Amino acid sequence: MRKFDLIVVGAGISSGSLIYNLLKLGFKGSILVLDRGDKIASGPTAFSAGGFRNLWTTDINQKLCSYSIGLLKNFAQEMGVGCAYQGSGYLFTYYQKAWDKIPAAFEQWNANAVNFEVLKPHEIENKIPGLLCGIDHMDPEIVEALEFEPIVGGIFGKDCGSFDPSQAAVGYFERALNDYPNPPVIELNTEVISVSIVNGVATGVTLKTAEGVEESVTAGIVALCTGPWINQILKRSGMGQEDLTPVIAQKRMMFITEFPGFPNVDSRWKDIPLTIIDQGIYFKYESGNLMIGKARKNEPDNFDTTFEQDYYINEVNLPMQERIPSASSCKLKSGWGGLYDTNVLDHNAIVGWHDNYKNLLLQVGYSGHGAMESPAVGLCLAELILFGAYRTIDCSPLRWSRFREGKLVKETIVI
Ligand SMILES: Cc1cc2nc3c(=O)[nH]c(=O)nc-3n(C[C@H](O)[C@H](O)[C@H](O)COP(=O)(O)OP(=O)(O)OC[C@H]3O[C@@H](n4cnc5c(N)ncnc54)[C@H](O)[C@@H]3O)c2cc1C
Repeated sequence: MRKFDLIVVGAGISSGSLIYNLLKLGFKGSILVLDRGDKIASGPTAFSAGGFRNLWTTDINQKLCSYSIGLLKNFAQEMGVGCAYQGSGYLFTYYQKAWDKIPAAFEQWNANAVNFEVLKPHEIENKIPGLLCGIDHMDPEIVEALEFEPIVGGIFGKDCGSFDPSQAAVGYFERALNDYPNPPVIELNTEVISVSIVNGVATGVTLKTAEGVEESVTAGIVALCTGPWINQILKRSGMGQEDLTPVIAQKRMMFITEFPGFPNVDSRWKDIPLTIIDQGIYFKYESGNLMIGKARKNEPDNFDTTFEQDYYINEVNLPMQERIPSASSCKLKSGWGGLYDTNVLDHNAIVGWHDNYKNLLLQVGYSGHGAMESPAVGLCLAELILFGAYRTIDCSPLRWSRFREGKLVKETIVI
């Protein structure tokens, strides 16, 4: 029977960061990485918008993201390959009721060195060509039906921006494969059926290759970086409801379009920050196009990723045209559907040991912010494995047991 010191299930950005950081910190053991996809980052990592920001409501997210931003900024230098880092900022816009609550966050942001600027409506309009903060130009019936209000202010996150999570994942694996005497063994097209549990201890996995060959492999530690598939694998491992995670799979679509005003596009569009406007519509510059997203309310828990052009036309572009009239020319060029691993209880990741099973490590439930957090979390988890404790950032608030302890870490700025 094959035996490894560590088996990591999943080959996305979170697993890449964990493995790279383990090796960098001096892990000398053997590592097996398993993914049923046919390449590194074939899952949600490949479908991400790649936004990063440290504007959050929870300390842990502010700290993890500020740290990750530093790592991403230096990624090309450290890794020898780029990750398409763009420090173009993040711009949240607000209606009056939400705006009134914003100053309450200032103290926490200052304490966590979150670099932000408060913008007035005219300053928002200067950053986003054609955006009108008022509602006088809108059809009153639409204003009422879609509950539009004037944008009265904005928060600009100066250290925020976007990157390419797939490139970063590949970079992590390349370094892990090429720079260390004990590179990981990576087996793709390989499904992990279950984690082997003996007397409450994770002792390995049972896998199945694309050819249908089943094999049991033993391991000292099993790390699950499986995104929205986490509960499937836990259930197949014989675990009950009390052992699962509050993670569901939710479709999220991204739309690639022409710029507002096309073909007479204001050249400032290529410098816009990632901007969030009415109803959670967000957009950013993406390789000569606009990338737009908007989470559907109450998206069901399933693995469907069908791309819906009608959703873009009716639910995204129509409201966007009200705020930015020139968005009527944002013709859809392409798009895709991917999956969030949404933690329905507090919209935050679940990282660290599974308290009910020894040697079982979790890194899941990122709820739409795993690309930006996993550079820091991978380092922290590597410390946990190697030194028995977090050193860089204490990730214990994100422990699995917080749900049964009633110690949720509720994040409210989720998009
Ligand atoms: C449309 C969209 C937009 C997003 N935008 C952002 C954003 O702007 N910023 C941000 O930070 N995050 C964003 N995210 C979230 C981000 O992409 C994820 O949090 C992140 O990619 C998670 O990476 P991961 O490595 O944990 O897992 P994933 O990329 O989810 O990969 C999990 C892997 O596990 C494998 N796997 C699962 N089960 C098994 C099994 N039983 N056997 C073998 N392999 C298995 C899968 O094949 C997959 O490759 C977005 C996600 C989507 C879908």
